[in-house]
Amino acid sequence: MARIVMKFGGTSVADMTRIKAVAERVKREVDAGNEVAVVVSAMSGETNKLVAYAREAAPMHDAREYDAVVASGEQVTAGLTALALQAIGVNARSWLGWQIPLRTDGVHGKARILGIDTDDLIKRMKDGQFPVVAGFQGLGPDNRITTLGRGGSDTSAVALAAALHADRCDIFTDVDGVYTTDPRIVTKARKLDKITYEEMLEMASLGAKVLQTRSVELAMNHGVRVQVLSSFMDAPGTLVVDEGEIVEQQVVSGIAYSKDEAKITLVKVADRPGIAAGIFGPLADAAINVDMIVQNVSEDGKSTDLTFTVTKVDLDRTVQVLESRKAELAYKAITPDPNVVKISVIGVGMRSHAGVAQTMFKTLADRGINIQVISTSEIKISVLINEEYTELALRALHTAYGLDAA
Ligand code: ADP
Ligand code: ASP
Ligand code: MG
Repeated sequence: MARIVMKFGGTSVADMTRIKAVAERVKREVDAGNEVAVVVSAMSGETNKLVAYAREAAPMHDAREYDAVVASGEQVTAGLTALALQAIGVNARSWLGWQIPLRTDGVHGKARILGIDTDDLIKRMKDGQFPVVAGFQGLGPDNRITTLGRGGSDTSAVALAAALHADRCDIFTDVDGVYTTDPRIVTKARKLDKITYEEMLEMASLGAKVLQTRSVELAMNHGVRVQVLSSFMDAPGTLVVDEGEIVEQQVVSGIAYSKDEAKITLVKVADRPGIAAGIFGPLADAAINVDMIVQNVSEDGKSTDLTFTVTKVDLDRTVQVLESRKAELAYKAITPDPNVVKISVIGVGMRSHAGVAQTMFKTLADRGINIQVISTSEIKISVLINEEYTELALRALHTAYGLDAA
């Protein structure tokens, strides 16, 4: 007998037919004698709809009420899934975040899980009940509903698996595993049997939304065995594992892209000590995260161009903050550009191989794609390019690194 957490994403619970199929899939594990806890997302499209309602009600919405609205999608699917399970003879019961309780901090809209009180859940499970937990939601310090950020049901599932000391955490989704890159864009993308926690963490944080970044972090820190697999077919998925479990290591394991970035150039900003602090200090104070940064060599020794990226949603605010500092920073102009994409190649093999960056630069150059900003770390190289070349760049790089499926 094993203890398993099974998480079903939005497309897997998109309608009643799918929810019944989920119930059958869960029943198989139940019939095999396993202790199963289920975590569900909202029906696909539902959270987007709820977010749009909140925006329409008030563009600068109160984050507490935003959470009260958007958390409701998961309440519906938790109840429906419990009903569908009961209908086929499984003793299921729905659980909302506050009922468990799953405690979070008070950062509404992207709360972090502080702890899960599993006493009650475990007691019920021992009595033969199968919990169906509403993903994405928790209970804040002031006893109000919080949500864990978009894609947060993955994190609910992994956190629950860690708290329950589950043997496995299966993440059921609309693709049959983690691919070398987004299979919806690159048809030659290859499914990986295994990927290391570290690589998955980079893939997720650099844009591959198949797992929420925080869920991978939690899995890595708690040694949770995560498998990503399809809820539409019966086939093994991708296991997220420690590096030691990977036998044949590729130099580049995957390629991710993110269209969430926007670029800002400050033209002819004064080139003297303290200017960078004068720019990035106020942005940090405004809780704006800056990602990539390049400063050009100054031609006249007095002024230079400085380019950096922020998330698209922060672009307007960033411009406002900088405009309010124009006198002090003495720049000539601000040029914001939301039409960019960040493409990243990732692989732990990069630590011991040279020439990975050169392949990336040459491949893009051969396609006439201009690189606007570059950033690197031990196991990844990211470039910023014009958004219109996303698909071309992904496909070319996928081929260049020998990742194409046969
Ligand atoms: P769910 O609703 O089940 O949580 P998501 O839409 O959040 O599903 O995540 C699955 C999607 O992630 C896939 O449909 C795919 O388009 C996308 N994706 C991006 N990069 C990858 C990748 N490297 N491997 C697999 N899927 C990826
Ligand atoms: N329903 C939430 C979202 O769409 C959480 C999730 O699907 O993981 O972001
Ligand atoms: Mg998801």
